[in-house]
Amino acid sequence: MQALVKRTEGPGMSLDAVPVPEIGPTDVLIRIQKTGICGTDYHIYSWDTWARNRVRPPFTVGHEFMGVIEKIGGMVERLRVGDRVSGEGHIGCRHCYFCRTGQGHICRDVQIIGVDRDGCFAEFLSLPAGNVWNLKPEISSDVAAILDPIGNAMHTVTAQNIAGRAVAIIGAGAIGLIAVQIARSAGAMSVIAIEPQEHKRTLALQFGAAAAFDPTSGADWQRQFCALTPTGMGADVVLEMSGSGTGIRNAFELARPGADVALLGIPSKEVQLDLSEGVIFKGLVVRGINGRLMFETWYQSERFLVEKKIDVLPIITHRVHYREYMDAFALLERGEAVKILLEWEN
Ligand SMILES: [Zn+2]
Ligand SMILES: [Zn+2]
Repeated sequence: MQALVKRTEGPGMSLDAVPVPEIGPTDVLIRIQKTGICGTDYHIYSWDTWARNRVRPPFTVGHEFMGVIEKIGGMVERLRVGDRVSGEGHIGCRHCYFCRTGQGHICRDVQIIGVDRDGCFAEFLSLPAGNVWNLKPEISSDVAAILDPIGNAMHTVTAQNIAGRAVAIIGAGAIGLIAVQIARSAGAMSVIAIEPQEHKRTLALQFGAAAAFDPTSGADWQRQFCALTPTGMGADVVLEMSGSGTGIRNAFELARPGADVALLGIPSKEVQLDLSEGVIFKGLVVRGINGRLMFETWYQSERFLVEKKIDVLPIITHRVHYREYMDAFALLERGEAVKILLEWEN
């Protein structure tokens, strides 16, 4: 089969012919139809500090997908060949304290497809049956391919109270833009986006953000931001989705005293913060957000999508055939795309 493989350490990826993955008795083989390209894939492609420290080539890349079950292992129940599915790409060990107490998303032995084991940028993916998510017919294939980042947004927004509160979202990439919609639907009083790229700020406003600030626009924007919040002292809730050092520092500066700050964006190196003034004396509640709750987040996302509380299609700015993957990564490099789908059907 064809697969996008990170063959060696260093920038780039290659489209290689590799064997169709084997499946064990509790696995399924999924024929991939559509996949989403994530920031993580771009980190691996460009071989930045995070990728150098985290991944060990060779492996097949990719973790956002949808497809159809091609084959099931001998012990798999309740799944059928032909089922339309997506799936949770974090594979917990199923034996540790966290996995056994419903917190598999923070299992220390988690294996992430496309990072720690072969991923979905391929014609076929092998996945444990317990990680498979059956798709309702109302969920279109394009949307199904990005349930993973929709779930990241859902988990980040719903990890604290949102109703009636002023929410700041730092980084309006795909996840930040979905979070704008989820926060609005979940009853936020107002949502303000912080994003350097103009086309993403425009989308944030289109999705109902009350304002969108360019954090590179000089000294005064933070004061203007605070003036828009009910206390005049900053947001009640800050969702950090950029992972940049500046974004993370802004998150703590834009939070009013006593605010909730949720951190999803992953910095590639250590970030220096003034903890005493920025966190402790402000009495902030800071939450790290990792992946999605299995499977509470998946059910929440499904409900929001089926009930049309969010519309994520405008976030998909490009659809590219897998053979043209280099064009897709070039679009990301130039900052022109929000979410790119790679299509795997010939
Ligand atoms: Zn992703
Ligand atoms: Zn575990």
